[in-house]
Amino acid sequence: DRVKIRTALLSVSDKSGIVELAQALSAMGVRLLSTGGTHKAIAAAGLPVTDVSEVTGFPEIMDGRVKTLHPNVHGGLLAIRDDEDHVAAMRQHGIESIDLAVINLYPFEEVRAAGGDYPTTVENIDIGGPAMIRASAKNHAYVTVLTDPSDYPALLDALKADDCQTTYALRQQFAAKAFARTAAYDAVISNWFAEALSIDMPQYRAIGGSLKEAMRYGENPHQSAGFYVTGDQRPGVATATLLQGKQLSYNNINDTDAAFELVAEFPAEKGPACAIIKHANPCGVATGPSLVEAYKRALACDSTSAFGGIIALNQMLDAATAEEIVKLFTEVIIAPSVSDEAKAIIAAKPNLRLLTTGALPDPRARGIVAKTVSGGLLVQSRDNVMVEDLELKVVTRRAPTPTELEDMKFAFKIAKHVKSNAVIYAKDGQTAGIGAGQMSRVDSARIAALKAEDAAKALGLAEPLTKGSAVASEAFYPFADGLLAAIAAGATAVIQPGGSMRDAEVIAAADEHNVAMVFTGIRHFRH
Ligand code: 5GP
Repeated sequence: DRVKIRTALLSVSDKSGIVELAQALSAMGVRLLSTGGTHKAIAAAGLPVTDVSEVTGFPEIMDGRVKTLHPNVHGGLLAIRDDEDHVAAMRQHGIESIDLAVINLYPFEEVRAAGGDYPTTVENIDIGGPAMIRASAKNHAYVTVLTDPSDYPALLDALKADDCQTTYALRQQFAAKAFARTAAYDAVISNWFAEALSIDMPQYRAIGGSLKEAMRYGENPHQSAGFYVTGDQRPGVATATLLQGKQLSYNNINDTDAAFELVAEFPAEKGPACAIIKHANPCGVATGPSLVEAYKRALACDSTSAFGGIIALNQMLDAATAEEIVKLFTEVIIAPSVSDEAKAIIAAKPNLRLLTTGALPDPRARGIVAKTVSGGLLVQSRDNVMVEDLELKVVTRRAPTPTELEDMKFAFKIAKHVKSNAVIYAKDGQTAGIGAGQMSRVDSARIAALKAEDAAKALGLAEPLTKGSAVASEAFYPFADGLLAAIAAGATAVIQPGGSMRDAEVIAAADEHNVAMVFTGIRHFRH
């Protein structure tokens, strides 16, 4: 199963390590073929190298769009070396075998991330490179393919140890990596296209991304994990800059995303807002006259759960807020930016991860979200509905007061980001209690009320903030019981989608307690 490397084709955009590799291959007697820019780099180092144009008998044409797309190259990569017909075809057409292909692709991902214009981005779609990678990987019975400069040393070690030969197992391993690379590359192109055209329909979108980093472990230490990025330039955890602290863990990334997507519901120009997240659910969200007040009010909702949480801010982290945050153990802070003073304060806690994104993501933007099921992926367009865009219908005798209406909207925004069944009490732009992820809506209502009572005790308040609060339910009340539990906790206003068979019963229960209720007409399931 060993194959001797006699001829290698080198064609790389990322030229790091290529001269050293060429040098080592050349020293082992390998004949080198190469394309324009790569050829130039290798020749400049004084190494013998043949331009692939000599192999094809064709110059590179059309600005490099056609360089290696030729039977002399692809025949050399694809031929089955011990198939009589293949060998005869090679002899007849003067095709020579290529045993090693070292290829990395036009930097589509980088151009995309740098915000290249449409024609530049299109021009950076590599055609010949993926074709050669796939040809070589398909023919891994004979051909070795390298797509990642970090694999050059491993190849050289193997060749030096075994008379310039590779084993089948090694070629298989490189082939697997090669197909992962071309699949990821095409997925990023597809994602870019879908985004450029504002398409979120799955039939126009390949789902996938390229590996940004391998993590030490997954949700649990015995699970392996990687962070794949789709190339979407949405401000958030995938594109953020880590200013300090260790690499984010799998759970950190998941929670930080939940936190930042939630706080982005509150545009910076409408005033400061803060969300604190634990296990992908908020344990407190608030607006405030200043950022530090917003943080304190978010923390007050459930300061016990906030320990070791993730904090998202909708505007620049300032010194006053940083001073407050460092008083409590926090895993991650994510914000559009940070002041120098705040940065210095956070620096005193070197383990606290600080991420900046440059901006808030647009909650109304289209996009896709995916989750895995065994044997597949479920893909849907992102929930980009905002309560401000909905026509709220008052269904009770009493209409909400302007304050109640504000709190209702605030609570419904948060409900979108809480695992179902979600029940959120809110008062004066502050969550009073959050009930998340229960199998029964009544339990969510009760848990949220219980948490509000705990918070009142911790804060030394005479009564919990649920008294006189607005309550949001992310989906309709199938029975009156969930609503009655919220009323028992002190809610005076209710926002919910409506649409249950028993809406009349639920409305009657609200009227009976002089509670104001509005229907949104849309729900925010989140599982
Ligand atoms: P060089 O810098 O050597 O001129 O070009 C190397 C790049 O060209 C590599 O990224 C490789 O994938 C790409 N490439 C090689 N052959 C072709 C081809 O026929 N068409 C296109 N579009 N790209 C190619």
